[in-house]
Amino acid sequence: MAASDLTSVDDAIRHLVSRARPVSDTETVALTQSLDRILATDYQVPADVPPADNSAVDGYAVRAGDLSGNTRLPVSGRVAAGHAPGSLEAGTAVRIFTGSEIPAGADSVIMQERVTVSDDGISVDAPVSEGQNIRRQGQDLARGELALAKGTRIRPQEMGLLGSIGIGKVEVFARLKVAILNTGDELVDPGQPLGPGQIYNSNRYTMLGLLAKAGCDVVLCETLADTREDTRKTLKRAAAEADLIITSGGVSVGEEDHVRAVLEESVGLSLWKMAIKPGKPVAFGTIDDTPLLGLPGNPASVLVSFLVVGMPFIRACQGRPPFMVYGERVPAGFSTEKSSFRREYVRARKSLNNGTLAINAYPNQSSGVLSSTCWANGLAVIPENQTVEQGDTVTYYSFAELLE
Ligand code: AMP
Ligand code: MG
Repeated sequence: MAASDLTSVDDAIRHLVSRARPVSDTETVALTQSLDRILATDYQVPADVPPADNSAVDGYAVRAGDLSGNTRLPVSGRVAAGHAPGSLEAGTAVRIFTGSEIPAGADSVIMQERVTVSDDGISVDAPVSEGQNIRRQGQDLARGELALAKGTRIRPQEMGLLGSIGIGKVEVFARLKVAILNTGDELVDPGQPLGPGQIYNSNRYTMLGLLAKAGCDVVLCETLADTREDTRKTLKRAAAEADLIITSGGVSVGEEDHVRAVLEESVGLSLWKMAIKPGKPVAFGTIDDTPLLGLPGNPASVLVSFLVVGMPFIRACQGRPPFMVYGERVPAGFSTEKSSFRREYVRARKSLNNGTLAINAYPNQSSGVLSSTCWANGLAVIPENQTVEQGDTVTYYSFAELLE
C-alpha cells in the first residue's frame, strides 16, 4: 500500500478532535468523589488563601523594632493555631505556633530554636528582620483570581486546592458513556473452555482498563459475531445508549470485517487506515450520529491506537482543552533495520543500562504480542522514513503521560 493511501497519525488526531462534540451534561458531586472528573465551570477564589498572615514556624511573634539594642523580651501571650490571635503588647513577645494567625502589632516570628527561654522572657541570639517567618495573607490564592479553569481534570492536588477555597461540592461534566464492542467469531470469554479455532477475548479487558483510567463509564460491553446483520443491529443499539462506541477488530479489508462495512453503508465512515505501526486499520465514523472509533483487532495495536489517537479524542469529548503530550528525549538502547513510511510506536521500557538512562525495545514487536505491552512502561517513536541507531535520541512517552 502506498503512503498516500494512509492518513498520517497527526492528521488522524486532528480529524478526530475536530469531530469531537464535548459532553454538555453536568452534575454536582461531593469533593470526596471528584477525583478524575472534569470541571464544568471555572472556580474563582472566594476569599484569600491563607485568609490572614500566619506563622511559618513554631516560635515567638515580635515587633522587629522592639529588638534593636535589646535582646530580651517578656512573653505576654500565646496563640495556638485555630484561635483568635489578639494583639501584641509593645515590647513583648507572644508564643506562637505554625499556622497560628499573627497577632495585630507583630511583624516577625522568631523560630523557637533561635531563642533562650527563661523565667523573665526570651532572649534572642540572631538578628530579626521584619516579616521573617510570616506566610502572607493570599500568598497561595488571592480573592477573585481563577483557582481552576473549566475543563480541568481533577487530580489529587486539584481536590486539595478546591478544598482550600472551601468548595465541598463540585460541578463536573457527566462521565462519557462508552460502549465496548469486540468483534470476532473466534472470541471466548475468560473462564470458559476454548474450542477449536477459538481464542480468549483479551481486548475487552485492555479496553475496560483504559476506559476506567480515562475516567469513562462503560455502559455496554458485548462480543459481536462476524455477520453484517449482528454488527449492524448491535451498533445501532450501542449508538442509542452510548456517547461513544469503541470497537476492536473487524475494520480491516477481509470479508469478515463488518464494522468498516456497516460504517460504509451508513455513509458514516470518515477515516480509516492510519500510517501507524502497529495498528494501521483504525476506523472513525458515526452510527446514528454517535461517534465510533474502530480499533484494530490485534491486542498490542488496541493499546497503542487507543493511547495515541483514542485519548486525544476522548479528552476532547470530555470537555477538556487540547492537550500536548510532550514525552521525553532519551537515548535509544536499541536499533532498527528498516524504515517505514508508517510512524512506529515501539513498546519500550525506560530503564537504566549500566547506570545510564536508556529506552529499550521489546524484542518481539508483533502486534499480536500482548506481553510486549506488559514488559513496557511506555512507547518510543520511530518517525516516518527513519531508522534508529543505538545511542540516537528517541522520543519516549510513558503510559502514564499518554493516559493523562
Ligand atoms: P481482525 O482485525 O478482526 O482481523 O483481528 C485481527 C487479529 O486480532 C486476529 O488475529 C484476531 O483473532 C485478533 N483479535 C481480534 N479481536 C480480539 C480480541 N477481542 N481479543 C484478542 N484478540 C483479538
Ligand atoms: Mg476479526
